[in-house]
Amino acid sequence: MFPAFQPEEQQFLSRVRDFVATEVLPNTRAWEDATAFPKEIWPKLGAVGLLSMTLPKELGGGGYSCTTYVEACRELAKGDPALSMNIAAINALCVAHIAEFGTPEQKEKYLPGIIKGDIKLAWGLTEPDAGSDARRVKSQATPVDGRDGFFHLNGEKMFITNGGQADLIITIANVDPSISADGKSAFLMETNQEGWKFRERIHTIGVRASNTVRFDMDNALGWHTPCTFAQATGLLFRGRLGIAAMAVGIAEKAHELAIEYSKQREQFNRRLCDMQSVQNMLADNEVEIEAARLLLHKGAALYDMEQNVVKESSIAKLYASEVANRVTNRAIQIHGGRGMTFEYLVEKLWRDAKLTEIGEGCSEIQRMVIAKQITK
Ligand SMILES: Cc1cc2nc3c(=O)[nH]c(=O)nc-3n(C[C@H](O)[C@H](O)[C@H](O)COP(=O)(O)OP(=O)(O)OC[C@H]3O[C@@H](n4cnc5c(N)ncnc54)[C@H](O)[C@@H]3O)c2cc1C
Repeated sequence: MFPAFQPEEQQFLSRVRDFVATEVLPNTRAWEDATAFPKEIWPKLGAVGLLSMTLPKELGGGGYSCTTYVEACRELAKGDPALSMNIAAINALCVAHIAEFGTPEQKEKYLPGIIKGDIKLAWGLTEPDAGSDARRVKSQATPVDGRDGFFHLNGEKMFITNGGQADLIITIANVDPSISADGKSAFLMETNQEGWKFRERIHTIGVRASNTVRFDMDNALGWHTPCTFAQATGLLFRGRLGIAAMAVGIAEKAHELAIEYSKQREQFNRRLCDMQSVQNMLADNEVEIEAARLLLHKGAALYDMEQNVVKESSIAKLYASEVANRVTNRAIQIHGGRGMTFEYLVEKLWRDAKLTEIGEGCSEIQRMVIAKQITK
């Protein structure tokens, strides 16, 4: 089977599949209704190894490949897309940030709690006036007198996944160019401090269980993780593969449900799956999902070979996210009126799929990245 996994990776993925079957899929509706994951989920995610998948073993993580990481995100999305999105971001943007740019003191202080799920994470780049054009961030970091490595953070952040539960947020802000060559850097900011001010919970049409928030920073204390803006946002290349995996998982689940339904439902004295128009939809789903999965695995394999995946991660995310939206739309069509009711999961997958065309760079930005890579 492609891709091939080491026995340890197979065991991990088998644990993930069991976890999805017993703890995730049965709760996906309840979490959406509560618009939150239960607090108890974090230590469970830690015990399965989902909070430190790609963290090197010497730092206490699983040390798994990018291929294993995307497979885990894909499996999670089949159970709950919002959870998949959270896990994708926590691993690729937060834990990876600390592993790459954190100082030994920062790693020692935070990693053990992160791995177990005691310290919950978020990644804060987007602001009200800085979305696709992330360089427009206005948040400002200024050194704290007499405290080497510590800065005061001022500004506001918006659309921050898990921001409502996070204990620690990796925050991007402007700095003096003497500190970072491109004038921006990243900081570890604890939320349990006066300077961090929750502003509002943002309710979205999909991935509703994800605790998306807007917050202000009013002289919040941030611990500098020395890196440039380009380095910090460079983590998005693997991150986008995680979102592509989420999209493939959503599409696979919707496709599975559509096939099942089309085999049971009869009209005009035959099953839906025996009608050519329905067969066309199912065949298109099958082909497009297969193509999306292959692009995803290609990107992950190249990452594992330490190759540049700027173009490949955008291709995988762009294609997989558009496939997820088409497939979930067709899945509703095949379910007919029932597909529009809250009784059938396809409507939720359709709503959740939309995020994959927007988060970690909307489709237009992915096309821009791809075009730039092939015309440089
Ligand atoms: C549920 C959710 C969770 C998120 N989680 C996080 C998170 O954890 N951390 C974080 O930092 N951010 C997060 N985001 C923010 C996300 O990355 C941004 O929403 C996204 O990058 C788009 O930015 P924007 O919403 O400001 O849209 P804008 O940048 O205002 O763009 C709006 C639209 O304009 C078009 N557009 C923009 N620029 C171009 C261009 N150059 N060429 C052509 N068309 C263009 C696109 O159609 C785009 O969809 C999250 C967003 C959502 C919805």
